[in-house]
Amino acid sequence: MNVIVIGHGMVGSRFVEDLVAADPYVRVTVLGREATGPYNRVLLSSVVAGKTDPSMLAMTAASGDRVRVLEGVAAVEVDREARLVTDSAGELHRYDRLVFATGSRARIPDIHGIATDRGLIPGVSVLKDLSDATGIVERLPKARRAVVLGAGVLGLEVATGLAARGLSVTLVHHAARLMERQLGDAASQIASGSLHRLGVTVITETSIAEALDKRGNLNAVRLTDGRQILTDLLVMCAGTLPETSLARRAGLPCERGICVDETCASPADPRVFAVGDCAQPPEGGTGLVAQGWDQASRVVAAWAGAVDGSGGSDGSRRADARREADDDLTKVVRVKAPGLELVTMGLSGKFDHGERDLRAVRISDPAVGRFVEVVVSHGLLVGATVVGDKACATELSAMYTRMLPVPADPAHLIVRPLASMGTSSTAKAPADMDDADTVCNCNTVTKGAIAAAIHDGCASVDDVARATRAGTGCGDCRSVVGELIQVCTADAGSGDKVPALAGRGEG
Ligand SMILES: Cc1cc2nc3c(=O)[nH]c(=O)nc-3n(C[C@H](O)[C@H](O)[C@H](O)COP(=O)(O)OP(=O)(O)OC[C@H]3O[C@@H](n4cnc5c(N)ncnc54)[C@H](O)[C@@H]3O)c2cc1C
Repeated sequence: MNVIVIGHGMVGSRFVEDLVAADPYVRVTVLGREATGPYNRVLLSSVVAGKTDPSMLAMTAASGDRVRVLEGVAAVEVDREARLVTDSAGELHRYDRLVFATGSRARIPDIHGIATDRGLIPGVSVLKDLSDATGIVERLPKARRAVVLGAGVLGLEVATGLAARGLSVTLVHHAARLMERQLGDAASQIASGSLHRLGVTVITETSIAEALDKRGNLNAVRLTDGRQILTDLLVMCAGTLPETSLARRAGLPCERGICVDETCASPADPRVFAVGDCAQPPEGGTGLVAQGWDQASRVVAAWAGAVDGSGGSDGSRRADARREADDDLTKVVRVKAPGLELVTMGLSGKFDHGERDLRAVRISDPAVGRFVEVVVSHGLLVGATVVGDKACATELSAMYTRMLPVPADPAHLIVRPLASMGTSSTAKAPADMDDADTVCNCNTVTKGAIAAAIHDGCASVDDVARATRAGTGCGDCRSVVGELIQVCTADAGSGDKVPALAGRGEG
């Protein structure tokens, strides 16, 4: 079978690796527009912040005589009748199955003066690709001021990252609240205060009307309310849109993303699939890598015949249950911002209490930049917002993702983690975790799988990542993996069995 994969990003590359491992006869051609191999895009804001070197982002990719990867080559046309893809070098590729893994593109707001015929003017950027991140970093030595447009998750990461580099940063946001989908008024105000302490000035309820240049380089921006801000850099973090242009031209049904069914196949063509950020599955796309990686592994399993697709077997029922759990995991929003701890999960911000039996309890402590709210229903944590309290965020995310029963008085959810501040939180006790507990949420890797890898000889976090993939996504769980290595090796040294696992995992 000849498979063509369009897009060699985080999901396309994972898909090819898994497919080649699962099918000894398949031949795959990968067309990748970017001139590099696959890399961890999730960590690009960390590159901008100077916390991660670009050389550390490279991801593993399939190789061998059954895989042909064309880097720096885009697919420009798909002829579904002839089953041919034309690439940007004019070469034709025939397929039996075609997989779109074209990801998403940054939304460029309508701002006068940001672009010429040659593209964005020097000093104006988005943050989507490695070249965007390195382009921003290259301008830093001559930059003293930056404006970041958009206070969503990425905007906060970029603003704090540039502030950590010593720039004076202004964060401009159209809504009244930061991360308005996730944060309510009090949490947003406390987060704004924390940003101010980090050197970020927040301006809300306005946008940027015009970019002003000096000899072709960005020099200032003019806000829609008339104010002008001098700046050397403008980074636009105004959201992303699934990359569907090629699929649309090929006549495939697209809405926000490329429409696919639960097997990731296009309803218009059983030979065509879409995975990752470009896809719009029945449950909706999340824009998070865990969903794309789950889709990739499901398609490979289905092609290999491991999934019968009838929806009636024990296996498929278990897969459905896993997927429901995974959907739940994706509702945890964690901002990777240097100096600012901010996590939301489930119901947060201004949510509708409706008819549900919800109890919400909060503490708000602007003086120290701390806000915690928990929302409980029928004995379960169904939502939380945490600003400025890492231990509490870790504890609550574990409780939320594992659906652990909560204390009768929800106030104890807030008081208990705070009471344990400065001591070792139960959330940080890998020895107490259960084998079934998920440590890496991006890759759905359990403590049991990690403990097994350590027993098989993995001695470092990178060894475990190679063996299990834990820690290769957002990287949040790498410290837990490190602790597990210590626990398991100490335990092996003492001759004890690796402890059975009850506790909390972070992904
Ligand atoms: C700065 C940043 C921070 C993020 N942080 C997080 C996070 O904390 N957690 C999280 O879960 N997710 C995060 N994400 C999102 C995550 O990176 C994506 O979910 C993930 O990369 C999706 O993988 P993908 O393969 O679908 O798309 P991508 O990784 O975007 O790859 C798509 C590839 O397809 C290529 N392509 C497009 N069109 C064509 C064509 N016609 N021909 C050939 N190639 C083509 C593109 O150039 C690109 O290389 C972040 C993203 C960014 C940019």
